[in-house]
Amino acid sequence: MSAEVAVVGSGPNGLAAAVLLARAGLDVEVHEAAPGIGGGARTLPLFDSEVRHDVCSAVHPMAAASPFFRGFDLAAHGVELLHPEISYAHPLDERRTALAYPELDRTRAALGADGERWRWLMGPLAARGPGVVETLLGDLRHLPRDPRAAALLPSRMLAQVSGAGFRGREAPALLAGVAAHTMSRQPALPAAGAALLLGHLAHTTGWPIPRGGSQSIVDALAADLRAHGGRIHVGSRVTDLRQLRHARAVLLDLVPRGVLDIAGPLLPAGYRRALERYRHGAGAAKVDFLVSEPVPWRDKRIGAAGTVHIGGTSAEVYTAENAVAAGRRAAEPFVLLAEPMATDPSRGLPGKRPVWTYAHVPHGDPIDATDVVRRRIERFAPGFSDTILASRARSALEMETHNANYVGGDIAGGLVSLRQVLARPAPRWNPYRTPLTGVYLCSAATPPGAGVHGMAGMHAAKAVLRREFGVPDRPIGWATTT
Ligand SMILES: Cc1cc2nc3c(=O)[nH]c(=O)nc-3n(C[C@H](O)[C@H](O)[C@H](O)COP(=O)(O)OP(=O)(O)OC[C@H]3O[C@@H](n4cnc5c(N)ncnc54)[C@H](O)[C@@H]3O)c2cc1C
Repeated sequence: MSAEVAVVGSGPNGLAAAVLLARAGLDVEVHEAAPGIGGGARTLPLFDSEVRHDVCSAVHPMAAASPFFRGFDLAAHGVELLHPEISYAHPLDERRTALAYPELDRTRAALGADGERWRWLMGPLAARGPGVVETLLGDLRHLPRDPRAAALLPSRMLAQVSGAGFRGREAPALLAGVAAHTMSRQPALPAAGAALLLGHLAHTTGWPIPRGGSQSIVDALAADLRAHGGRIHVGSRVTDLRQLRHARAVLLDLVPRGVLDIAGPLLPAGYRRALERYRHGAGAAKVDFLVSEPVPWRDKRIGAAGTVHIGGTSAEVYTAENAVAAGRRAAEPFVLLAEPMATDPSRGLPGKRPVWTYAHVPHGDPIDATDVVRRRIERFAPGFSDTILASRARSALEMETHNANYVGGDIAGGLVSLRQVLARPAPRWNPYRTPLTGVYLCSAATPPGAGVHGMAGMHAAKAVLRREFGVPDRPIGWATTT
C-alpha cells in the first residue's frame, strides 16, 4: 500500500474515479473486498460454466447516457451496448401490455388516446436529452449548463405526481413501473424525477444490455486503469482508514455505514451523527434462473423487450411499493425481469438461458423470493415454471454479505427521499468531501445516486483533483489517453 491515491471499492463509481485520477497522471490503487471487481456490475457463472448471469445490474440506460461513460467511450474500449427492439414492457393483466419502444412516435401510437400526453411528457426531454441528463446526473452544486432542459422538469414531475393527465391504464403503468426503480414511496417527486430520466432515455440513448453482461463495463474500466498505471487489489477489505494513511487522497466507494465502520472514531461528532442518520430504503430480493427456453409470455411481443416490469396497473404498483417502503411484504410485489438472450444471443447455450429477476421486499427481509417471483412471472407467462432448470435466490438480507453497500438489500445506496436526494449523504456544500483531510466519498450514496453511470466517481475525482492536487476544474481531457 503505497499509492498517492487509494480508492476503497471497485464498483462503477470507484473505478470511474480511479480511471480519471490515473489519467491525470496520479499513482492510483484500488482495494476491493470481494474476490472480483465490479461491485454492482458483476457477471458470474452460477449453474453452468458457459452461462453467465448478471448478479446485480443488467440493463444500462445510464451507462449509455452518462457524461462520464460518453467521455470514456465504451465502444472504443470494446464494450458493445446492444439495444432491444422494445425498451421495456409492462403487462397489465392477462390481456393487455404496455410497451415503450425506442421510437417515441411508435410508443405514442401504441398508447392510443394517451399518446399525445406521453409525447408532451417525454418528447421535449428527448429533444434536449444531453441537458436533461447533465441536470439529473449532476452534482446538484452547479447551475445546469442547459437551463431550458432543467426548466422542463418541474412541471413534468408535478404532473406525474398528480396522475399526469392520462385517461387509459397503459401509460400510467409504464410511468409507475419506471418510477418503481427507486424502490420508494409513490407517487412522489423523487421517484417522478427518476421516471423522467429513465423514461426519456428509453427514447434517446436507449435501455441497452452490454454484450457478455454488465461485467464488460467494469472490465473495460479496469483495463483502462491498468493501462494508466493503476493497480487493483481484490480480496482486500479495508477495515481501518488508517491502513491508507500513506495516500494523499482516499476515495471511499462506500455508503455511510461502510464509512462509519472504517473511519467512525476519526470523524468529527457532527458529521458522524449525520452519517448515522442516513436512511436506507426497501430491499431487493434477487432470483437468477437458468431456463430451457425463452420465457413463454402470453403476449409474444414481450419477448422482444430488454426489461419487463411485472407490477400490474399503476394503482397496483403503488400499493406494492408503498407496502414495502413501509416495511410490509406486498401481496403482489413489483418484479423486474430481463432475459438477456432476447438482445444478446451469445449469453446462453441451446436449452440453457439466463433470466435475471428481482422482487421489491421490505428492508432486510430474509425471504427467499424464488416462489413469489416464479408465481408473478407465471401469471403473464403460463408454463414458465416448467422451463426452470435451476435457480438461485439471494434475499435482501443476504445482499449485504455480497456487497457491504447494499444495507438491508437496499440497492439504491440509500433511501430515495426528497431530503436524501438533495442532501446526500449529509447536508454539506460539497457532498463528496468529508471533514477528514484528503478523504472523499464517491459511492451511490452521493449525488446523483444509484445506477451504473460513474457520475459520483467523476464528481468526486474532480473535487480531489481540484482540492488536493491543484488541477483546475475543467472538462476531463479524454483525448489525452492511452
Ligand atoms: C440486484 C441489483 C440490480 C441492479 N440493477 C441495475 C440496473 O439494471 N442498472 C443500473 O444502472 N443499476 C442497477 N443496480 C444499481 C447499481 O448496481 C449500483 O447503483 C451501482 O453498482 C453503484 O455503484 P458504486 O460504485 O457506488 O457501488 P458498488 O457497485 O456497490 O460497489 C462498491 C464496492 O465496494 C466494495 N467494498 C465495500 N466495502 C469495502 C471495504 N471495506 N473494503 C474494500 N472494498 C469494499 C464492495 O465489495 C463493492 O465492490 C442494481 C443493483 C443490484 C444489486
